[in-house]
Amino acid sequence: MDQVEITAYNASEPEQKGTAQIRRFKPSEITKNVAKTLSLYWSIALFTVLIPGLHFILTPSFFGLGIYLSLKKQKTKLQILSGSVPCPKCKEPVLLKKADFSEGHKVICQNCVTTIKIIF
Ligand SMILES: [Zn+2]
Repeated sequence: MDQVEITAYNASEPEQKGTAQIRRFKPSEITKNVAKTLSLYWSIALFTVLIPGLHFILTPSFFGLGIYLSLKKQKTKLQILSGSVPCPKCKEPVLLKKADFSEGHKVICQNCVTTIKIIF
């Protein structure tokens, strides 16, 4: 677990600095995450074969969703564990919840409903 400085910004306001606890995935963990995601969605896809009628839509959807989400997992090298940064617009602290972190991570300020981009 690492403590890092993060920068929050949106289009019109000056950026704000905050801190976050992050976890870096090892290459083996990334592979495991990809396999877990793929097997979950493909299991659901297999299960939906049993639903008459709907399987024409559901089975290919979950099959495709599995591929899409596991490719996304493959790009996820970091995970935010927790953190806090002042909102660039209203200066209220925005708490970061545990989430996968990829380039251009976005959070929404609960106070002023502004979308904030988080970068390191
Ligand atoms: Zn705000």
